[in-house]
Amino acid sequence: MLVPDPTSKTSRAAREQAPRDDAPLRGPVRTCAGCGKREAARDLVRIALGEMVGDASAPAHTAVVDLRGTSTGRGAHVHPVKECLAKAARGGLSRAFKCAIATTADDLSDQLASSAARRVTGLLGGAYRARRLEAGSDVVVEACREGRARLVVVATDASAAAKLTEVREAIDEGRAIAWANKRELGALFGRDEVAVCVVLDDGIADELGRAHQLVRSFSSTRSEAWWSPEVR
Ligand SMILES: [Zn+2]
Repeated sequence: MLVPDPTSKTSRAAREQAPRDDAPLRGPVRTCAGCGKREAARDLVRIALGEMVGDASAPAHTAVVDLRGTSTGRGAHVHPVKECLAKAARGGLSRAFKCAIATTADDLSDQLASSAARRVTGLLGGAYRARRLEAGSDVVVEACREGRARLVVVATDASAAAKLTEVREAIDEGRAIAWANKRELGALFGRDEVAVCVVLDDGIADELGRAHQLVRSFSSTRSEAWWSPEVR
C-alpha cells in the first residue's frame, strides 16, 4: 500500500498555498545556482562552502549541503531538484562561490538524502521531547478522532496499524508518511517498538513533510533499506 506524500498534489493545502507564477515572492529571495531563477529562500536548499581540497596548483573547495541553513560562512542556494543539482555541480556553484568547487550531482544528492533523513529523525525526537508527538495506536486513533492529528507516521513494517480506519483516512488524505521500522521508530522514543505515532504541531508536520519528500526524491535505493514509501 502506498502512503501518499503530504507535499504532493494530493495535499489540498499545498496546492492552495502554491504561489502563482506572477505573485511577488515573500520573505528572503535567493538565486538558484543551477537554473539561475530567483526563488523564496525557504524553497531552496543552502549549500555551504566546504573545506579546501586539491593542491596549490589546482585549489578547490568541497560543497556541503546545509539543510537547516544554520552553518556559518559563505553559502549558495539551489532548487532541490535533480536538474538544478546537476547544473550547480557542473559550474553553477563555482560561479556562485567564485572558486573551483569539487562536487558532483550524485554527491549533492547523497548529501541531501542523508541530511534530510537525519532531519526527519531529529524532528521526530524533538517533537516527542516537546510533547508534540504521541506514540502508539490507541493515542493515534484518539488524536485523529479529536482532530488533533497533523501528521501520522507509520513504521514500514506496521501493516496492522496501517489498516486502522483512522490511519487509513490519514493516508488517503495525504497526512501520513512511512518511516523506519517498528524497532527503529521505537528507539527514537525510548521504547522497544512503535508501530505508529502522530505529530500534533502544524509547523513540525510541515517540516517533516518537506524533509521526508527530500529523502524520497534523493535516496538511492541501494543505501536506504531502512526507509520505504510503503507499509508492508
Ligand atoms: Zn533551480
